[in-house]
Amino acid sequence: MFQPLLRITPPLLSSKSLRKSLFSSLSRQGHIFPIAIIGSGPSSFYTTKYLLDQNEDIHIDIYEKLPFPYGLVRYGVAPDHPEVKSVTNTFEEIFQSPKNQSRLRYFGNIEIGQDQTKQLSLSSLLSHYSAVILAYGAHSDHDLGLPNEHDISGVLSSREFVNWYNGHPDYQHLHRSKHLVDEEGKLRKIKNIVIIGNGNVAIDCARICMKDLTDLAKTDITKESLEWIEAIQTDLESVSIIGRRGHVQSSFTIKELRELSRLTNEQQPIPTVFHPDELQLGLTEASKKELDNNRPKKRIMELIDNIAKQSPPSESRKKIEMRFLLSPTQLIADPTDQHIQSIRLQRNELTGPPHEQKAKAIADEVQLPCDLLIKSIGYKSISIDPLIPFNKKTNTVNHKDGKALFESNSPYENKLFVTGWLKRGPTGIIGTNITDARETTSTVIETINSPKSASYPQDYDPIEVIQASSEESKNVFSQSIHWHQVQKINQVELERGERQEPKKLREKFTTRREMIQIAKS
Ligand code: NAP
Repeated sequence: MFQPLLRITPPLLSSKSLRKSLFSSLSRQGHIFPIAIIGSGPSSFYTTKYLLDQNEDIHIDIYEKLPFPYGLVRYGVAPDHPEVKSVTNTFEEIFQSPKNQSRLRYFGNIEIGQDQTKQLSLSSLLSHYSAVILAYGAHSDHDLGLPNEHDISGVLSSREFVNWYNGHPDYQHLHRSKHLVDEEGKLRKIKNIVIIGNGNVAIDCARICMKDLTDLAKTDITKESLEWIEAIQTDLESVSIIGRRGHVQSSFTIKELRELSRLTNEQQPIPTVFHPDELQLGLTEASKKELDNNRPKKRIMELIDNIAKQSPPSESRKKIEMRFLLSPTQLIADPTDQHIQSIRLQRNELTGPPHEQKAKAIADEVQLPCDLLIKSIGYKSISIDPLIPFNKKTNTVNHKDGKALFESNSPYENKLFVTGWLKRGPTGIIGTNITDARETTSTVIETINSPKSASYPQDYDPIEVIQASSEESKNVFSQSIHWHQVQKINQVELERGERQEPKKLREKFTTRREMIQIAKS
């Protein structure tokens, strides 16, 4: 049906001349390679960019379950980090580029999955595209493993909390939920927040809760969450960030700790407090070895030492506590309304060789008052369809260089690919997706080059075929949001932000209904 493409490896991908010759050789064949990408976060956009750059016969349809794109950039990155969010400009350019005009489409408000409530099935995409790339990230949580963590109120995962304050339509119910509102419908008073886990997401949550409202009000944080933060800051005294291992093994990065330690609220510094005994306990011989030749970690240790040396200003009523070597063992709820009241933690010590040290419980226990518990122990990916070779131990898709690996023969072998958190697990910054996307791109191109892969005539449109297959799928596409409609929503959000007092970066729509209404207006 078509001749094999050249094999492309990442270093060659950037070669303009190679690209040119590849383009012309492929165009002559008169065939296209339509590819569906599920998800529209950073991993999806980087993969889209590299695929379109490499091969002019590749056409891409991005499917997103929400009307608006950008995934973690819009709903995960903290609102007070607009410089990180500005990567969406790069993503917009991919759509605006003239060379991509007829090769790239966006279908928002279409969910892919296998169960009845989902809108389009993965198998139907696999049947009508040359390849399908899974890029839907991680939208579930790990548990602490405590008996009542799902039964009592006031216990949220950082993912839920972050999605809520960033305006994700599926998390806006939290504002009126028992977690934040009491039985009389009033916002709960919150004096002490405890965050389990000490990665950058934990730091984001702590900073947002303690941040000066004047600064926060200018960001794209939602109106409702800003009101909540304003209300809780009256009583809020402490946010405790809890690491199960020592400070040497902490997961936050230096920039985020520095920013936290410089936080002020109403011109008062908010001290970041370390406990010297915990720093001492964590500095085992193995920890010292972990620091050898590890310049970035050593710099974090220097910063911790500097912060720990500063004595907190006596006038400060609020503080952020960085606690280490503690693991939660019991969540204690108020017997009258079953809302969290305090948390019991076991003291740990470190055991094991350098870089493999684990937390081991020792006798002591600590109890902390807690009005809101945020579990920030990592995001978790889930499978959206049983035909995905999903590894339940790693919560990622089994793959080789981005190609899904099936245990037994599957008709979808060489058709299903993966990129982003679903491929490598929930770690890394936005830029980590660049290398990841390059690898998946290279594998996709190499695979569709195989004579077994499907290519289609130039005028083939997978959407037409899918729509023709059933009335339901026709309906699905009639409700979808296209790229020019995304631009409309974007424009209205920016204008709404301009009209706020003080001006905000944007005022997001927090419901699908509002977004669809603007899109279709
Ligand atoms: P993370 O960095 O992997 O941190 C997870 C934390 O949870 C670790 O402290 C881990 O401790 C702890 N943990 C895991 N299981 C636990 C358990 N059962 N009990 C107690 N603690 C437990 O994850 P994240 O904070 O969700 O961040 C995800 C990624 O996004 C990271 O790569 C992060 O750097 C990135 N991110 C970056 C920024 C930024 O650049 N500003 C902002 C947000 C997120 P152990 O080490 O002991 O397992």
